[in-house]
Amino acid sequence: MPLVERQFSDGKDTLTVTADYDNRLKKTIRWTVENGTIRIRLPRRVRKRDVGPMVDEIVEKVRRQRARARRQQDFDLQARAEEINRRYFDGELQWHTIRWVNNMQKRLGSCTSGGATDGDIRISERIRPWPRYVVDYIIAHELAHRKHPNHSKAFWDYLARYPQIERARGFIEGIAFAEQTEADTLL
Ligand SMILES: [Zn+2]
Repeated sequence: MPLVERQFSDGKDTLTVTADYDNRLKKTIRWTVENGTIRIRLPRRVRKRDVGPMVDEIVEKVRRQRARARRQQDFDLQARAEEINRRYFDGELQWHTIRWVNNMQKRLGSCTSGGATDGDIRISERIRPWPRYVVDYIIAHELAHRKHPNHSKAFWDYLARYPQIERARGFIEGIAFAEQTEADTLL
């Protein structure tokens, strides 16, 4: 049983926060967010009576980050991601927000795992005018990272559910070639 375990609602989600001592930690508090759970690990030197306020502070930080991501969320993109999730992934994938961003230098898309921005997907504005099957592929690619964070064989097998994968990857390889970079580093 952890020292602290409670649930709170945030947006349309119910999140869990747990906190416990971790003997391996010397000074720093560590925490991660994964699948809707904030897991906080505390060094022994943190006194029991200070645990509550520290948990509250981390929960507030996560809430603020999540609220900011929701304000910036693009609802057309969200609808498109939901459609792709339904069609190709049996609706099994979950994420927090998806939005267009104009501050990605090279990458076409990204999906965060862990931390206060867990499940926030960002798609580069740059691809907006690209063919629809490519944009959908990039969305599907980032969604699939919710199940497999790395480019493992399991990831590619799973993503192959998106039918136009070869065509879309060919398009992106062409872009990467023109920019003298590797296609796999773009998303
Ligand atoms: Zn990727």
